[in-house]
Amino acid sequence: MVEKLLVTDIEAAKMLGVSVSLLQGWRQKETGLPYLKIMRSVRYRVSDVKALVEQRSTEKARAIENRIRGSRRGYREVAAKTLGRRLKPTEVVHHINGDRRDNRNCNLLICTDDYHRWLHWRMSLAFQAKLLPSPLS
Ligand SMILES: [Zn+2]
Repeated sequence: MVEKLLVTDIEAAKMLGVSVSLLQGWRQKETGLPYLKIMRSVRYRVSDVKALVEQRSTEKARAIENRIRGSRRGYREVAAKTLGRRLKPTEVVHHINGDRRDNRNCNLLICTDDYHRWLHWRMSLAFQAKLLPSPLS
């Protein structure tokens, strides 16, 4: 059997577990996932779709690892002190300059896990597009 090289937007959306309209939005913004236009139909490379899945799962694993490490480093405590309350389990702390040892208030951003993952995903896209000097953590 010949392995498929290209998939339709419907197939790509299914592989990624996202909606077809999200992919459409990405195409309009020229972000997210590279695509090809053959005549008037849109195709995605299977390798690009797989690479995105791989990238997202690595980021998720890293986020969990960082949270465990972070609680040891105490930046959740620093953020809680500034906020005047304990952080909710759904809240995570992002280091704006990418240095996880830099726990100054001005370097900490408190956000939801979803937003945090979205932020890192956007940063990785910016890195790929060479808008950022290096991937931040
Ligand atoms: Zn972060």
